[in-house]
Amino acid sequence: MIVMKFGGTSVGSPERIKSVVNLINDNNPKIVVLSAMSGTTNALVKISGLFYAGNKDVIAEIDQLEDKYEKVVDELYSTEEYKLKGKELIKNRFDLLRNFEKVDCNAVAECTILAQGELLSTALTQLYCEESGINSALLPALNFMRNDRNGEPDNYYIKEQINRELNSYPGVKLFITQGFICRDANGEINNLKRGGSDYSASLIGKAVNAKEVQIWTDIDGFHNNDPRFVENTKAIRELSFDEAAELAYFGAKILHPASVWPAQEANIPLLLKNTMEPQAPGTVISSTSKNEGIKAIAAKDDITAIKIKSGRMLMAYGFLRKVFEVFESYQTPIDMITTSEIAVSLTIDNTKHLDKIAQELRLYGNVEIDRNMTIICIVGNNIMHSKDSISKVFMALDKVPVRMVSYGGSRHNISILTDSEHKAEALNLLSKYLF
Ligand code: ADP
Ligand code: ASP
Ligand code: MG
Repeated sequence: MIVMKFGGTSVGSPERIKSVVNLINDNNPKIVVLSAMSGTTNALVKISGLFYAGNKDVIAEIDQLEDKYEKVVDELYSTEEYKLKGKELIKNRFDLLRNFEKVDCNAVAECTILAQGELLSTALTQLYCEESGINSALLPALNFMRNDRNGEPDNYYIKEQINRELNSYPGVKLFITQGFICRDANGEINNLKRGGSDYSASLIGKAVNAKEVQIWTDIDGFHNNDPRFVENTKAIRELSFDEAAELAYFGAKILHPASVWPAQEANIPLLLKNTMEPQAPGTVISSTSKNEGIKAIAAKDDITAIKIKSGRMLMAYGFLRKVFEVFESYQTPIDMITTSEIAVSLTIDNTKHLDKIAQELRLYGNVEIDRNMTIICIVGNNIMHSKDSISKVFMALDKVPVRMVSYGGSRHNISILTDSEHKAEALNLLSKYLF
């Protein structure tokens, strides 16, 4: 069994859906995980926002999205019978959306609205398989994808339920399911956060012990820098799980931040491929990639830096514990940390409880907060042992104001914190000096 995940652009038009079906129709057992068609989740976010605001424009917005899907149905299916089935299918989904006006909006309603994108793309694709005479089954992700009470995927439940679902279709080799969507511990509709279909694919791969998880997207693999900010970036043929996990966590949009771990835990290779160029080799992420040296750079925005300065820290023990406990009590993860004898600086990306955190930290010293910061992460196996890596990084960033540096925390990462306004400049300078 393999898992093949196709992102929004890969299923973004009737033509693209047909190409995907071409790619998956080879009689080998597989689970196909689909995102919503590109633009749909953003439109649904807008729709949900309009519901919240009680804005009457919401119906027009829903109608506009429905028009788009009606055109998709017209172009995707060739027979009147299937055009009718397609229309019926989208009408049900859009009627459900329009009915939300009558309910009070809450987090569950919002997640239910967002879920419609993946429910639509998978149902339309599976119906196209049916029209094309391809034996396939639609696996409802909401029947097996579930988070536990801590909001983490419930791996045990997922494994049990997905295998039960698979076994209920003897003779079927092609399964199509939704990425992104799941249920919470109470059984309510939830999701794995934006870009979460990659995470779904990796979790499913682990649950069915897949031979490989393939992530099909709109670029020919993992590039050595962010192609949205840097020209002439290059695809990397191989990455280790550790390298890919750091890059994904620190902002490489091609992979959801958490998507590498399930595959790594189960030692299942991840293959990144380009739907528009299926022959291109792409990137293999596995435990066998051992190439050393700097491989790639990624950047994570919306970072807040917090500095706690206190004379009491001098020669004292237990100070850092107290500081960390404040973050722990507000369930706020810390990304980067640097210390001096009288101060500690750290970064967070979740600022939900920032005011309360700052208030408690003031008990221990003077607190300074810098917002709109970016972590730039330079990654490569054993980067610490390649002797000129750090000097090249500093040379490249000679003219860029650096707020924090983290080096030595792991063997394969150098992290730099800078003001977000210097991000593009820093990424370009690093590419120039390092590659
Ligand atoms: P999908 O919809 O298939 O999930 P995404 O838009 O989420 O696709 O991810 C692919 C995009 O990620 C690329 O088009 C590219 O702009 C962006 N990206 C950012 N960093 C990288 C990187 N290091 N390598 C490749 N793509 C990257
Ligand atoms: N459709 C969701 C999003 O746009 C999930 C995904 O594409 O991975 O975020
Ligand atoms: Mg994505």
